[in-house]
Amino acid sequence: MIAPVLRDRGYRPYGAIRGAPAGGQRLQAFCGDAWMAVGDAAQAYDPLSSQGVDKALKSASDAGHLIHYALEDSSQGEDCSQGAAELDARNPYVVRHDEAQRRMWDEYLRRRAFYYGAVRRWPGEAFWRRRLPVEQAAADADEHRLRASPSV
Ligand SMILES: Cc1cc2nc3c(=O)[nH]c(=O)nc-3n(C[C@H](O)[C@H](O)[C@H](O)COP(=O)(O)OP(=O)(O)OC[C@H]3O[C@@H](n4cnc5c(N)ncnc54)[C@H](O)[C@@H]3O)c2cc1C
Repeated sequence: MIAPVLRDRGYRPYGAIRGAPAGGQRLQAFCGDAWMAVGDAAQAYDPLSSQGVDKALKSASDAGHLIHYALEDSSQGEDCSQGAAELDARNPYVVRHDEAQRRMWDEYLRRRAFYYGAVRRWPGEAFWRRRLPVEQAAADADEHRLRASPSV
């Protein structure tokens, strides 16, 4: 659709153009023994529904703080004086990272449902139905069937 516009302005493809899946995806576990995943390595979002750079910067910054607290034993009074040797998945700061990642994922799913739910032009199309909450997809499909049926 925009190819003629780009061509007119002298833009040329750089290498071969190829498609790639761009759905949301996440790790099953966001951390483990002495590791934490951040940014897209932890969870990546459907481009229509949310931001990625902001989330990557924030999750990396938060993880840095949590690692520091875990290593140094923070002033927050948590029992975390065991140091790097105990930086495993039970460490309270590592657990906190896991919880924050799960909240981010839940928020992403809510946001995705909101954005895709706002589009009502193609209720019968699989692409849109797959991205709706189950209840809304069922209701939309019923409405679509009613509208598509010949009136009696
Ligand atoms: C087409 C497209 C459009 C997008 N548009 C937007 C947008 O408009 N706004 C927005 O907020 N987000 C957008 N995003 C999402 C955003 O780009 C990502 O969420 C964000 O860049 C994630 O940052 P990151 O640091 O986690 O990962 P990345 O930016 O992928 O950085 C990871 C880096 O690690 C390097 N690397 C990988 N493996 C190794 C290795 N073994 N050793 C050393 N280095 C390695 C990679 O080369 C890369 O430089 C878009 C994504 C795509 C694909």
